[in-house]
Amino acid sequence: MKNWYEIYKNTIIETLSKEEITKTIKKAAQKITENKNNALKQIKNVEELLKRVREIRQNAIDRLETLIKEVKESIEAVGGTFYLAKTAEEANKKVLEICEEHEAKLVVKSKSMTTEEISLNEYLEKHNIEVVETDLGEFIIQQLEEKPSHFVAPAIHIPREKISKLFSKLMGEKISQEIPEITLAARKLLREKFIKADIGISGANAIAADTGTIFLVTNEGNGRFVTNAPPVHICIAGIEKINPTIEDAFIITRILPVYATGQIMTSYISLITGPSRTADIEFTTTIGVHGPKELHLILLDNGRTNMLKDPDFKEALQCIRCGSCLNVCPVYQRIGGTYGYKYIGAIGTIYTAFTHGMEKAAGPAYTCTLCAKCTQACPLELNIPKMVTKLRSRLQKAGYTAPPHQKVLTNILNTGNPFGEPKQTRTTWMKCDLQ
Ligand code: SF4
Repeated sequence: MKNWYEIYKNTIIETLSKEEITKTIKKAAQKITENKNNALKQIKNVEELLKRVREIRQNAIDRLETLIKEVKESIEAVGGTFYLAKTAEEANKKVLEICEEHEAKLVVKSKSMTTEEISLNEYLEKHNIEVVETDLGEFIIQQLEEKPSHFVAPAIHIPREKISKLFSKLMGEKISQEIPEITLAARKLLREKFIKADIGISGANAIAADTGTIFLVTNEGNGRFVTNAPPVHICIAGIEKINPTIEDAFIITRILPVYATGQIMTSYISLITGPSRTADIEFTTTIGVHGPKELHLILLDNGRTNMLKDPDFKEALQCIRCGSCLNVCPVYQRIGGTYGYKYIGAIGTIYTAFTHGMEKAAGPAYTCTLCAKCTQACPLELNIPKMVTKLRSRLQKAGYTAPPHQKVLTNILNTGNPFGEPKQTRTTWMKCDLQ
């Protein structure tokens, strides 16, 4: 059995051998950054807005434990159900329980990193439930059985030739390499799934504690179908997605598209506050009209409370998952999604350490150059390199040291220099220097 270092090193070598893919990732990442910078120039009072974003996220994390209770009360008050899952397994079991209650055979999903974190698709498929991703990038990744390579653009590394081949196969007819034709094929294919689905599963970009409102940001509009068409909606999100008020959540989703995709504003922001309801007949409230009859919110802890209690890493919970840090990262620009486990990049590595353990975080943590470009790109100005340094120190204590580092360390301890030169030679150098 190879160790974590060898496995990670080999994955990087394999990625670097695919030159076309690495070029595509770099080009796309640079383009998003260029768009972001242009978008920022067009927003009035951007500095004030960013200051407010930082205050909101810091306040939210400082009050997180209280806000979780507030979300529960707010969601239940509007007819939804609330569940706090301590672990990935608990969250998966809860989803399965709801699916079984409804004898669900088909589930449609909108993009959600949290469900990726808990491997929900694999779990449901093991229980004979078909899961269809509906975000185009996620759908492509799912069909090709690949790994997402960006928080907001998961299929960024896949060239259109490969995608046209995939759709030709799925549609049983020739689909050209023209992007509009490919997207039309996706539209046709997925329309049917939205209608037939028993359950829709979404993530959340933000949750407002005071109203229990779930904010969902999409460009494709798939989020609306997923959360509206099926009779049951399950939303799964990490506890850190909570913001104190609906106004705060608006501000977060105001800045998110700018940093995520370089857009002034995204095409759709869906606000969901409880299941569908009407009071149109004799002013008697009835749940379930055109939208889902049931709304279940599952908040996931899975190590986040440990992060919250840890002064070295608490700051990471402020992240709004825009991915802006990835786009400027020199390591990400070379190896894309290989730089991480489920969560990508340096900030993703901090999450990985808490959600999936030290071993999964070790490789990516040592890959970081500590150049701090990510901090400059981050709307929250998170000190990501500082957290990576702290993580490395904990990895070292836990026995995860990269062999080249170990060699340098041993050399210093044995010979007093990183190259392992005998002490005698060193003395000669010193004499030379003094002369
Ligand atoms: S660390 Fe900052 S730049 Fe990176 S995803 Fe989070 S909020 Fe965005």
